[in-house]
Amino acid sequence: MKDLIYLDHAATSPLLPCVKAEMQRIMELDLGNAAALHGAGQTAKEIVETARANVARLLNCNVSEIIFTSGGTEANNTVMEIFRGQKVLISSVEHPSVREAAKARACEVVEIIVDQKGRMELRDLEKKLDETIGLVSVMLANNELGTIEPVVEVVKCCKKHNIPVHCDATQAFGKIKIDVNELGVDYLTISAHKIGGPTGVGALFVRQGAEFNPLMCGGHQENKRRAGTSNVLAIAGFGTAAKWCWDNWSCRKWAEVAKLRDILRERILHEVPYSSCNSPEEICLPNILNMSFQAAEGESIQLYLDLKGIIVGTGSACAAGDIKPSHTLMATTGDAEVAHSSIRFSLGLDTTKEDIERVMAVLPGIVRRLQGISTVKVKEQI
Ligand code: PMP
Repeated sequence: MKDLIYLDHAATSPLLPCVKAEMQRIMELDLGNAAALHGAGQTAKEIVETARANVARLLNCNVSEIIFTSGGTEANNTVMEIFRGQKVLISSVEHPSVREAAKARACEVVEIIVDQKGRMELRDLEKKLDETIGLVSVMLANNELGTIEPVVEVVKCCKKHNIPVHCDATQAFGKIKIDVNELGVDYLTISAHKIGGPTGVGALFVRQGAEFNPLMCGGHQENKRRAGTSNVLAIAGFGTAAKWCWDNWSCRKWAEVAKLRDILRERILHEVPYSSCNSPEEICLPNILNMSFQAAEGESIQLYLDLKGIIVGTGSACAAGDIKPSHTLMATTGDAEVAHSSIRFSLGLDTTKEDIERVMAVLPGIVRRLQGISTVKVKEQI
């Protein structure tokens, strides 16, 4: 039996064994600076370019359209830097690295409302689109709920007005197929650690001919679009994870994960008192399930599960430690209590039926106990 049941893949996925092995191999090499002309530098450059080819292939774009960054956060900030001083439209459930980066730079940030499951309302988008908008940013899938956003439809609306579209695909990466040409977006963000690569490395797709302004200046790396000595080790790990995805990705395997996720949802709804589901049943990533438990605090449930060797998330990892309720759940439910009592289960390809059994062996008791000692009463008792 596994010691730990890891159901927090949306926060980060453990390193794939092949990534670990490749990074260990690279660490043993005598590498130079990837920008240097000597042999040690050229070997490093080759490693970086092989990784770029693996990442580009996965997104179906050209290698020249990939810029390596320090992760999804930097890629999102880079896009917002391009549109500094302009009016930016975002969905009301974007990740803080889009929301806050836009607020720090745009002259105005307008939010497009979402429905109860977090899907952007296209009618609201159409109403708010005009020639004063510099950029529209919509995520491919929501990190807290798993909701898949109507990106193709958003692009169609924006193209009528000639407005570029950025898509934060960090959470969808590796879970559903991403083809930048099918999506039609101008900019797209991804991050290595969501697919079993290392943390601290990601990429921004910038369509050929799209406007660009570097966030990081002071060096000619990444074709003068991102200054700073290349993090060869992390990039190599990212490329290896991307290659693993290309070689092994299968709709069928993720459909199996979705089946386990659905079993977990149904069992929780039936066996855990006063539980409700915040994630959509359809048009959702296969691995995410966000549930709320009336009168039980999400953080307390998380800690009790941790004591039993079960690792889950509360909202998004980035919002953890923040006492404010998740802005995503506030946007979808408008109910701070639902937001404070939510747990995000995010499964991986290694999740088994036994893992779900072990969660269900302890979760109802933990929730009941917390509800019993809570000063907040479940709605029916009020
Ligand atoms: N966007 C989304 C949707 C995310 O889930 C995350 C990671 N939590 C990020 C951006 C930030 O990515 P990174 O951790 O690589 O900076």
